Amino acid sequence: MYPMRPTSSIHAIKDLFVLNLNSPEMSLVVAVLRESAGLARRVQQDMAVINLTKSDLSPVTVADFAIQALAAKRLRDVFPDAALVAEENADRLRDPENAAMLDVIVGYVAALIPGANRDKICAWIDSGADASGERFWTLDPIDGTKGYRRGDQYAVALALLEEGRVTLGGLACPGLDANCMPAPGGCGALAIAQRGAGAWRAPLNDADAPYARMRVSDCAAPVKARLLRSFEAGHTNVDQIEGIAAHLGISHDKMARMDSQAKYAALAAGHGELLFRLLSPSRPDYRECIWDHAAGAIILEEAGGCVTDLNGKPFDFTRGRKLTENIGLFASNGLLHDAGLEAIGRVTA
Ligand code: AMP
Ligand code: MG
Repeated sequence: MYPMRPTSSIHAIKDLFVLNLNSPEMSLVVAVLRESAGLARRVQQDMAVINLTKSDLSPVTVADFAIQALAAKRLRDVFPDAALVAEENADRLRDPENAAMLDVIVGYVAALIPGANRDKICAWIDSGADASGERFWTLDPIDGTKGYRRGDQYAVALALLEEGRVTLGGLACPGLDANCMPAPGGCGALAIAQRGAGAWRAPLNDADAPYARMRVSDCAAPVKARLLRSFEAGHTNVDQIEGIAAHLGISHDKMARMDSQAKYAALAAGHGELLFRLLSPSRPDYRECIWDHAAGAIILEEAGGCVTDLNGKPFDFTRGRKLTENIGLFASNGLLHDAGLEAIGRVTA
């Protein structure tokens, strides 16, 4: 149906380029992700004691805005004219009713960027409203907000897109271990990828640790596959996922729920074979946001995996903030992509 879909396998991985950790783009991604994840953790620890029922001051809101401000500023320091497409805008913060929340955000950002104030922070956040063009960055400051709230999986995601392709990307996943296995409260994982130069992982909390190559699992038997899906039932179609698993012969003990793009990192590191994101029955018109997939997709592809929508169509990142030409997500280790698409077709027909 879509003959251009890459049918990669781990045996076919060939590096065209050497990963350049010192390029301005990759240095920026690594520095921003480490700093942002540190900020997310700090907010989570500090604010665990606040009575959230009394205010709109939820840790996730503070962390979301503070990280977008921080990352946008750091990006512009290195690339002054860079276009940024990011999840948040500052409209809510400019409402005088939320002045107390804005001041908490100012406190966190000013601790990292001296001189940061209310106006600057709102402007940095709003600088993420760029329409996409030939070359732009995309950021999800806290992907998996519900996982962050639960003390479970979440990610900070940053990627560079050029001429409709993700060319560079990274995920900071504080709830994974360095091997990209779930381990909330541990060292965290940093996963990065550059097109043609592979996907690489390192402990998030150790800037001096060497990077290890990420490779997808070599499982080619559907019945042995491990399946990942969103933790939140409302973000997918659980009945259809159960149907797909049954069709492939996958038992319940091989199915895991996980928030955020940490799922892509886990798959890229070989801890699973299939990742489905079906349309929720309550939101049949839902279209995916580019910041929810760009970084995860390049990491998985560079680890030898395959990413398409539910019809096997490659993601079209040229349509603005959303993947309007794609429906849902199906990602795999590559070897099981055709079997997964066939199962989707059967169950969703
Ligand atoms: P996950 O952690 O896999 O549940 O994905 C989290 C992302 O799901 C969030 O960043 C949201 O942008 C996105 N999301 C929100 N509502 C929906 C929905 N109805 N269907 C699919 N994804 C959604
Ligand atoms: Mg998100």
